[in-house]
Amino acid sequence: MTGGVPASPSGPASPSGPASPSPSPSASGPPLLRLDMPVQFLKGVGPKRAEALARMKILTARDLLYHVPRRYDDASTITPVALAQVGMDVTVAGEVRSKGVVPTRSGLRIFQAVVRDASGVVTCAWPGQPWVGRNLHVGDRILVTGPVKFFHGRQIQPREHVLLSRNPSGSDASAGPDDDLAGTIFVVYPASEDLSQWFFRQVVARNLDWLVKHVVAEDFLLADVRKTLGLVSLADALRTLHAPPSMDRTKPAVRRLAFDEFFLLQLMQARLRHRATQAQPGLAFVRTNALVKALHDSLPFALTGAQARVLREIYADMTSPRRMNRMLQGDVGSGKTLVALFAMVLAAESGRQAALMAPTSILADQHARSIRKLVRPLPVEVEVVVGADMGKRRRSARARVASGSAQLVVGTHALIQEGVEFKSLGLVVVDEQHRFGVRQRMALAERDPRPDILVMSATPIPRSLAMTLHGDMDMSILDELPPGRRPVKSRVADSGSRSSVYQEVARRLAQGRQAYLVYPLIEESEKSDFRAAEAEFARLEEEAFPGRRLALMHGRLPPDEKDRIMRRFQAGRIDLLVATTVVEVGIDVPNATVMVVENAERFGLSQLHQLRGRVGRGSEAGLFVMMAGGNADAQERLQLLSRTDDGFEVALEDLRLRGQGDVFGADQHGHRTDLRFADLFEHRDLVGPAQDRARAVVDCDPDLAHERNALLRILLERRYGDRAQLFGVG
Ligand code: ADP
Ligand code: MG
Repeated sequence: MTGGVPASPSGPASPSGPASPSPSPSASGPPLLRLDMPVQFLKGVGPKRAEALARMKILTARDLLYHVPRRYDDASTITPVALAQVGMDVTVAGEVRSKGVVPTRSGLRIFQAVVRDASGVVTCAWPGQPWVGRNLHVGDRILVTGPVKFFHGRQIQPREHVLLSRNPSGSDASAGPDDDLAGTIFVVYPASEDLSQWFFRQVVARNLDWLVKHVVAEDFLLADVRKTLGLVSLADALRTLHAPPSMDRTKPAVRRLAFDEFFLLQLMQARLRHRATQAQPGLAFVRTNALVKALHDSLPFALTGAQARVLREIYADMTSPRRMNRMLQGDVGSGKTLVALFAMVLAAESGRQAALMAPTSILADQHARSIRKLVRPLPVEVEVVVGADMGKRRRSARARVASGSAQLVVGTHALIQEGVEFKSLGLVVVDEQHRFGVRQRMALAERDPRPDILVMSATPIPRSLAMTLHGDMDMSILDELPPGRRPVKSRVADSGSRSSVYQEVARRLAQGRQAYLVYPLIEESEKSDFRAAEAEFARLEEEAFPGRRLALMHGRLPPDEKDRIMRRFQAGRIDLLVATTVVEVGIDVPNATVMVVENAERFGLSQLHQLRGRVGRGSEAGLFVMMAGGNADAQERLQLLSRTDDGFEVALEDLRLRGQGDVFGADQHGHRTDLRFADLFEHRDLVGPAQDRARAVVDCDPDLAHERNALLRILLERRYGDRAQLFGVG
């Protein structure tokens, strides 16, 4: 841990300012950066405004510098008043010529202002907001955005208005509207109730030179590095964002700030990674080939190129004293389990035990079955330990794990959490990582001796996202499917063709196949939704699929009951599984070859791809039908799935369409990455370089103790100070 880093001055203000700055160098650490100065001391702020700024989390001069406009307008986005027509949504810029509050017969008071630009005049009206007039004066120049309506003539009803400049005299004698907008760019800041646009524009204008001058000292990218990466300087970026000389300069500016965010996040994760893999030695497995080769020779097929490559990566980790902390990503059916098995067998041949943890007992059983089959020719014991086993069987299974006679142990997460005893646990494989958080991984890392960790992800996600969420791990990617896999036939259907879709399902059922019918996750806390699902189920049973064995699986069922239904389906004792919750990720029922998803437009593309994987397991080509209501756009989006069966491509498209907000929103492990400028789609090319550089820094200087890394240490502390504990920083 670094120690000695001065805390960010977010408390009472210290008496320094741009005029008389006197940052006191702390004895134990580097001096405060000038931009740590409380925002109060910038020109035009003062204590009262500083309080209001603090409510917007703007505490220091740096915070204000990074408080950049959220929007830009110029001639290309601004409509001349004369061209604003009823029905359009416009932004206009002009001068207030007259104003007043108009009462209506219904008692509603409407503030109205006549706005003029070089092309003409238009009335702006704020129904029910008479107070708007208090802060708008004749002669002020304003920017107004909203729909154009018709009330006794054209009228803009602003959703938003921004004061561009005050009429200096406050009188009617204005200089007249600008004749030409060309070249003028209007910036719109995030403002608050107490702090207007106007305030931000002014304060930034008065302090920008000073702020930009001092941010130079915080630019940790050397000029040649910037050049290689095609990035502008920090000073350039921030000046441009506050006062863009042209609209096209803002993108490169944001890109620079995006890189910084990725880099600092990766720096923190690189330190976590260092702690997990290198701070203390891990196990160095010895490859004798006694078992690995036997497994190789007994396989009825060859490994795919991707499997062979990924195994080399894993073996290199396992045989080095560096501890493995690796994630294995791959599409459904890419053969992740086999890769994991090879790693487990390497542990066994090195005299250690290996554990495979699945999220549910049904998946644990499934893994155990396929692993047992594959290692039958090998002299190794496989044991299953799940919470549901009671009594004697459970005790003897645990005894075999404790004695070390079971080398490969398969179970649920309880395997680790309930403190099952191992003789010498060397490797832990975690299936379906999304249910297993950073903290749990760290807890594993604290065991003694420290087992190697391999995490298998359930769904492919874009590389930029994977590296951002899991930068503390190394990444192996299986980007190739075993040959001869038949793609699942996927199509989008509208509700008009439901009966023909059902006929197709019935036809397959008649041939002895099984099927899934999936409804989007409904709010099952709502009684009415729940009833609707039950009524729908009864209808399916009686009308659509008479004589077939149906089962309804919904979120309200206790886990045991869900498990029981899944097992009956797996055993072929249910023909059609109607699921209102997502069908268990990873479940394998090769005889189920058709899936129909209702209201498919309500699912994310990746989720649909994951569902589709359930019907691609058998020898007969699977069929996947997405019933879609919604508009043409929604249906078009779904068409992507009929064009590609590459899960990574699907995931990237999901990211592009839905944005990272959704992605992070859905994340349950409290990954707060706080990416304000960085966009995981738009800036995805920057994640790799940011990670490489961050890891290079930490590999040489894990605690950032070197003088040359002092700046990075401070910036990291400024940005992630509150999370120092989780990430082992600070
Ligand atoms: P995943 O867990 O990545 O979805 P699995 O590990 O379940 O994929 O593999 C899917 C199927 O493909 C399994 O039946 C497995 O035995 C088989 N398989 C794995 N690797 C190969 C390969 N190289 N060639 C042929 N089949 C393979
Ligand atoms: Mg699997």
